[in-house]
Amino acid sequence: DGDDLKEPSTPVRPIKQSYADSKWSDTTPYASKKKIQSWVQLPDGNWELGTILQTSGNDSVITLPEGKVLKVSSETLIPANPDILDGVDDLMQLSYLNEPSVLYNLQYRYDRDMIYTKAGPVLVAVNPFKKVSLYGNDYIEAYKRKSMESPHVYAITDTAMREMIRDEVNQSIIISGESGAGKTETAKIAMQYLAALGGGSGIEYEILKTNPILEAFGNAKTLRNDNSSRFGKLIEIHFSETGKISGAKVQTYCFGEQSRVVQCSEGERSYHIFYQLCAGASPSLREKLNLKNADEFKYLKQSNCFTISGVDDAEQFRVVLDALDIVHVRKEDQDSVFAMLAAVLWLGNVSFTSIDSENHVEPVIDEGLTTVATLIGCKVEELKLALSTRKMRVGRRNDTIVQKLTLAQAMDTRDALAKSIYSCLFDWLVEQINKSLAVGKRRTGRSISILDIYGFESFERNSFEQFCINYANERLQQHFNRHLFKLEQEEYIQDGIDWAKVDFEDNQDCLNLFEKKPLGLQSLLDEESTFPNGTDLSLANKLKQHLSSNPCFQGERGKAFTVCHYAGEVTYDTTGFLEKNRDLLHLDSIELLSSSTCPLPQAFASSMLIQSEKPVVGALHKSGGADSQKLSVTTKFKGQLFQLMQRLESTTPHFIRCIKPNNFQSPGSYNQGLILQQLRCCGVLEVVRISRSGFPTRMSHQKFARRYGFLLLEHVASQDPLSVSVAILHQFNILPEMYQVGYTKLFFRTGQIGVLEDTRNRT
Ligand code: ATP
Ligand code: MG
Repeated sequence: DGDDLKEPSTPVRPIKQSYADSKWSDTTPYASKKKIQSWVQLPDGNWELGTILQTSGNDSVITLPEGKVLKVSSETLIPANPDILDGVDDLMQLSYLNEPSVLYNLQYRYDRDMIYTKAGPVLVAVNPFKKVSLYGNDYIEAYKRKSMESPHVYAITDTAMREMIRDEVNQSIIISGESGAGKTETAKIAMQYLAALGGGSGIEYEILKTNPILEAFGNAKTLRNDNSSRFGKLIEIHFSETGKISGAKVQTYCFGEQSRVVQCSEGERSYHIFYQLCAGASPSLREKLNLKNADEFKYLKQSNCFTISGVDDAEQFRVVLDALDIVHVRKEDQDSVFAMLAAVLWLGNVSFTSIDSENHVEPVIDEGLTTVATLIGCKVEELKLALSTRKMRVGRRNDTIVQKLTLAQAMDTRDALAKSIYSCLFDWLVEQINKSLAVGKRRTGRSISILDIYGFESFERNSFEQFCINYANERLQQHFNRHLFKLEQEEYIQDGIDWAKVDFEDNQDCLNLFEKKPLGLQSLLDEESTFPNGTDLSLANKLKQHLSSNPCFQGERGKAFTVCHYAGEVTYDTTGFLEKNRDLLHLDSIELLSSSTCPLPQAFASSMLIQSEKPVVGALHKSGGADSQKLSVTTKFKGQLFQLMQRLESTTPHFIRCIKPNNFQSPGSYNQGLILQQLRCCGVLEVVRISRSGFPTRMSHQKFARRYGFLLLEHVASQDPLSVSVAILHQFNILPEMYQVGYTKLFFRTGQIGVLEDTRNRT
């Protein structure tokens, strides 16, 4: 009895049916068994473990732990795993692989503070929302010595490190998950491990200190996460031949979210650094920048949220100052940085007054305006002009005319200036950091990249920012799919290995919807952005007109449309799409900054002109649209993303999927529905199914023979790599079902090569 609950001796073969191994086999006479445990779904959607009492016809009678007896349709029951498999550290080990079993296994571990679980090659991390004692030097040492092997960020980072050295291939650690799932924390934990293993020169310390700086300037409190990263980050850590860290390079992916500087919703905050500066600046700095408390600045005041529980902004400011010192940002540059921050804050306090009967306005000359002028290093008169007029070049001869601004235009101009100062400041800081961490001349080209990028977002109201973020996630999902599924299959087929195909979600249709030219979301958005008369409504109509036949697209009433993403449907509101996509900056503002007597604003002005490739309003012909050669935000972002994907494709990827167990950022609460949705989004079950049916370890005949040939006890007549390989396999008694011999490579099931490696390391 109960024998068929054991793991079959050969792994389950993949079957096309989606939950094939979650069903009992037809021949299981489970009605006759005693105490068969099964998952029952309760009306609230949660799964509970019950015991089957009897089965007759299509119905089963089940008892639940609290003594309740239920009669349910046998069809709806899902087999549970035997107790002995409770809390296995790799989901591959489950006999029955189904959603409730996976949920239960993760919960079993989560309840015991074992937040990490393997899903085949993928590491699943469930956010504990509390301090867990899994980190620090003792743990690092244990993983380094391999005396500890339970799933961990350290373990996966260790693997990346070893593979980088062994295979001489660059590695990447790709961390994904929803907002608040723990990506940034996970990335820091991986960096700590690398610093401990590859440290010594001191540069690792500098690398770690980039975190508080980038978080201060790029993170903010949102409704989902008190420390939400509003930018994506790829940090490439370089190593010398001896495996020591030699430098690093940070690449950030920002867009749209500059708007947070001038506007954020109730209960959220702008970027941390503003509050830190207001709370932590020394008296002399306060005086120099004419700083006030955060609640006296309009940009910060509007969301009515100034503090984060458990966070001391003043203390954090000291941490940032310290970090800036460590990454060698000079004191005078630090002062300029703070002046720019104060200028942004004071810009928000600039107000306007009407000057004629045509609604034209001028800034009020008050403390706000004069302070901004002082901080930027320009004359009050120049600032006043830049905020109330716009120079336009018209006609063939490029004559300049000066147009007065209405209140709405003037406020837009003011906010645009604040946003671009902030985004230039952020880019400038990243540049300083990169200069300071620059890899020396003796670079080996070996690196491990860690990617921490915003996860899929779906809110009640989704705008341009979500549109970009979710597009990025489609691309990353494709990378994941490709790597784990497609490449896997292709490689088997190419090498002549018999391997049944496994179905997996392919998101190419959705990517086509975004990228296709000329009729895709991005092309149509760009086209509409260049039409002078384009509006958000005309954009929505155009999308509906051209894309309705795409299965991933659905038009909605008014200005909205829905995209069927791999992670679910998201309805986007096109309000503000065109404006945000154009991201215009007025020439007058650039001129203002370049007239500054301070180096930082000058640098910003030239980078705005040269690098940003933003369309510049003043340079437009009055009748025409944006210069078609300038790039829109979407196009620029797409280019960045392609570059990122290219970089990732030349690396061996390691995936970490972060899971948020509840929406309250609170420890101990495990919301099955929420977790299941995330597991489905990232295809955790499919990965496990594929991995345990496939041959994940592979090595070319040559490499195998070279690596283990010296372990052979007997002489092999033929010295060709294949013969040597086969002799090794025989000597080590690797069972025939545990490997396959391809045309060029050997393929192994999980865990098979361990004994060879161990022997090799001992020899
Ligand atoms: P976003 O996409 O919004 O940036 P994120 O995925 O980067 O979100 P984090 O900021 O890393 O999320 O994590 C959110 C919070 O969860 C952290 O501030 C911390 O309180 C908690 N947290 C995450 N991982 C851990 C961990 N390993 N141990 C303890 N707490 C954690
Ligand atoms: Mg983050």
